[in-house]
Amino acid sequence: MLLRELEEYTGQLLVVERYRDYCPNGVQVEGKSEVTRIATGVTASLELIEQAEAWGADAILVHHGYFWKNEEASLRGVKRNRIARLLSRNISLLAYHLPLDSHELLGNNVQLAKRLGVTPTGRFGEQDIGWIGTLGGEWALAELALRLEQVTCRLPILVQGGKGTVSRIAWCTGGAQNLFQQAIDLDVDVFITGEASEPCYHLAKESGVAFIAAGHHATERYGVQALGEHLSQKFGLEHRYFDLDNPI
Ligand SMILES: [Zn+2]
Repeated sequence: MLLRELEEYTGQLLVVERYRDYCPNGVQVEGKSEVTRIATGVTASLELIEQAEAWGADAILVHHGYFWKNEEASLRGVKRNRIARLLSRNISLLAYHLPLDSHELLGNNVQLAKRLGVTPTGRFGEQDIGWIGTLGGEWALAELALRLEQVTCRLPILVQGGKGTVSRIAWCTGGAQNLFQQAIDLDVDVFITGEASEPCYHLAKESGVAFIAAGHHATERYGVQALGEHLSQKFGLEHRYFDLDNPI
């Protein structure tokens, strides 16, 4: 299919125009106009580009692309090397950030919830970026942490709140630790995100709401895979997801 058609379809599917984002959503680097093989990954690192290229990808689709607000605009160093590699191999880069976190079927948040056995019941925060839901009964906090460990294949950071059991849950994949206070205000039992900051420990202890950081990369693997699979089925594209280990 044409790159232009792929971008148009994906933009409509994820309703990209609805979001005020920190980066452009859609084609960030334009390569060949025809796409038959699409590689997906969480972050458009040089390693991902090299692996996608070795596989013969025409386009790479990621959650974390380039051109973030407040970053240095000039093409130097790491950024130059990545973009030079894409351009010299004629490989396109498509990136979807907030729209891919938020999509109600393919997004990072809903895909993580599905794997955890959480039923979403609502949204919170600016642009509805955070999610709330229920575990459908009281779970031991340790049981939830173990479930997360099994799903993400890594040990989460866990800070106990007031009680050892949880049922109402708030979550937001990636680096959303700054939503913790808003989650506390919603009277949930536990908040799950990808990354932790030092104040999260004290907030958990003093509010009684447990805090879990399960990994930024680890919690954001699922949206891009689901999107890649969807596009593959819809348009007969060859799709392969590359999981490049990242402990953060
Ligand atoms: Zn992220």
